[in-house]
Amino acid sequence: MAAVREAVGPDVKLYVDANCGLDLFHATELAHRIEPYGISFFEEPLTQNDVRQMAQLRARTRIPLACGQNEGLAFRFRDLLVNQAADVLQPNVTISGGYSQCLKIAGMAQAFNVPIDNGGAWPFHNMHLHAGVSNGGLVEYHYVAVQMLKQIFDGLPVPDQGWLTLPETPGLGFAPNVERVRELAKLPTSHGKGKA
Ligand SMILES: [Mg+2]
Repeated sequence: MAAVREAVGPDVKLYVDANCGLDLFHATELAHRIEPYGISFFEEPLTQNDVRQMAQLRARTRIPLACGQNEGLAFRFRDLLVNQAADVLQPNVTISGGYSQCLKIAGMAQAFNVPIDNGGAWPFHNMHLHAGVSNGGLVEYHYVAVQMLKQIFDGLPVPDQGWLTLPETPGLGFAPNVERVRELAKLPTSHGKGKA
């Protein structure tokens, strides 16, 4: 983090994501070590997004905590809010119950005055959620996911100066290219075989 901060200078926002990979001790330790580098939020620091431990970690660090991209059920977001366990909620429309449930989660977050941002990639699907609610936030332009989505979909918007302009065509405004999907399906690592 020190090297990255030095490379990008003071004006670029930096985020850290542990993908639910740490226990409370190590997440606390890491948070304390990276606090000097101006981290905008620490995403999913703790295993299973443990609500009680998230609240404990939040009390121990001055880095804002974000989580939710790996949550599928609305009550989990309710519990995070009620227990003051996150500074930012991250419902993801491809994981957290689609647009219908993510709208409810966005509403819950707004009632608690907690912002929402996208985590967990799928930016072109999640941009519609964030553009469609008054408390919409950041969309994670996840490089690997974007490269994959470009192979599947036609009509994806291209970011300009960090902003995505939403399509005005019906639905999502982009569609799978069936021919290309058929070709991708022939690859030896297709049908889930590429994921060890
Ligand atoms: Mg993430």
